[in-house]
Amino acid sequence: MDIFDEIRFIARKTQNPYLKEARSAGQKIMGYLCSYVPEEILHAAGFIPYRLRTVESLGTEKGDLYYSALNCSFVRHCFDKAVRGDFDFLDGVIFFNGCDHSRRMYDNWRDLYRERQAGPGFLHMLIAPHKISQTALNRYTDELSKLVRALEESFGLKITDQKLHNSICLYNEKRSLLAQLFAMRKGEKVPLTGAESIRLVLALSAVPVEKAVSLLEKMIDACQDRNVAKPGDLRLFMAGGCMEEADHMQLIEDQGAVVVADNLCLGARSVHTPIEEDLPPVPAIARRYLTHLSCPRMVNDFYSRSHYFEETIRDFSVDAVITDKLMFCDLWGGEAFLLKSEARRLGIPILTLEREMHGGGAGQVQTRVQAFFEKIANLTQDDA
Ligand code: SF4
Repeated sequence: MDIFDEIRFIARKTQNPYLKEARSAGQKIMGYLCSYVPEEILHAAGFIPYRLRTVESLGTEKGDLYYSALNCSFVRHCFDKAVRGDFDFLDGVIFFNGCDHSRRMYDNWRDLYRERQAGPGFLHMLIAPHKISQTALNRYTDELSKLVRALEESFGLKITDQKLHNSICLYNEKRSLLAQLFAMRKGEKVPLTGAESIRLVLALSAVPVEKAVSLLEKMIDACQDRNVAKPGDLRLFMAGGCMEEADHMQLIEDQGAVVVADNLCLGARSVHTPIEEDLPPVPAIARRYLTHLSCPRMVNDFYSRSHYFEETIRDFSVDAVITDKLMFCDLWGGEAFLLKSEARRLGIPILTLEREMHGGGAGQVQTRVQAFFEKIANLTQDDA
């Protein structure tokens, strides 16, 4: 199996052979929900961090017993899987107040555990402020210290500074390799598609970090002379939150584009900002996670996101932008609106899409994207 097939295989499964192997060797696995949950702390506690996912979801029927139809389809699919027992291999789950929909999963999962003893007993709610400031940083550092204590007390272990330091170095290495790979998309030759990059980040968040580093090294090797861009393909920037459906991304790219940059949860957000290795570990982790390329949940950080947007459009020679949000996602609804005016200011074409996770609608997406790309082609001809 070559590296691309291996990544595809891991990405489309809830579990994978590396997790199963680690579990049989006695290692514990800790689920988490969001890019603001520091994997370093979970790793230093001896767990394999595992990002919860909706792949292989059978629907939202069971999740809908706990959620309302006005909640986004990511949380409904994800919790449906929890009710069905798909995440029973986890030893705990760390939840996060990313948005109200995802925060609610903590309450629902506790109910599920109380009612049916389903899933792991260790459920921890991590809170991060919605603003970036010194006060917020102090608060988040306290929250991370609480997480450290909760893990130590519940599992009878000790998370030393030395262990944290080792984990920080490993995750910095993973981040830096991914950043190196993503930066290779700046050039005319684009070594991997947007669909492949989603699969890659999804796969990396479900294997031991040491394995992730070796997969990334193989991927960088395999990408050296690779070019997936076809002549005439538009270079796209993809903006959005919870997107795991590589096929959806592939459908967009198949209309005549290649995604060269993004600010997706399973994308650029995982590569930005290393953790400072020579500072006390918990405050250093807090600083990185509070100030990395932010999600729209951070209400006073649009300026940084728009700066990243502008810089990336220039550095990656982006021709067009697509924002793609889930229905009922207010965070990305607001962000898409703001990005639209930023795109207008920068003179770059932008299309706004909305979807249900694993919700089909391929024909409609295809038509809208085709029309958007044709409009850009016509504009370019008019300019010539
Ligand atoms: S898609 Fe939006 S509403 Fe759903 S979990 Fe993500 S941020 Fe929250």
